[in-house]
Amino acid sequence: MKRLKKPPLVRKWYYCPYCHTKIAVYDNTAKAAGVYIKCRTCKKEVEIRI
Ligand SMILES: [Zn+2]
Repeated sequence: MKRLKKPPLVRKWYYCPYCHTKIAVYDNTAKAAGVYIKCRTCKKEVEIRI
């Protein structure tokens, strides 16, 4: 059975706190802690906390 209605997902950008580059996309169902992404612009590791 196909889902006719999509859940209302709101997508947002996660910005690097150092250089404000967009580094990840998340939606409003996301929960994250202890996830690290290395920013390609400033080469710093950023912990994703949502
Ligand atoms: Zn950065």
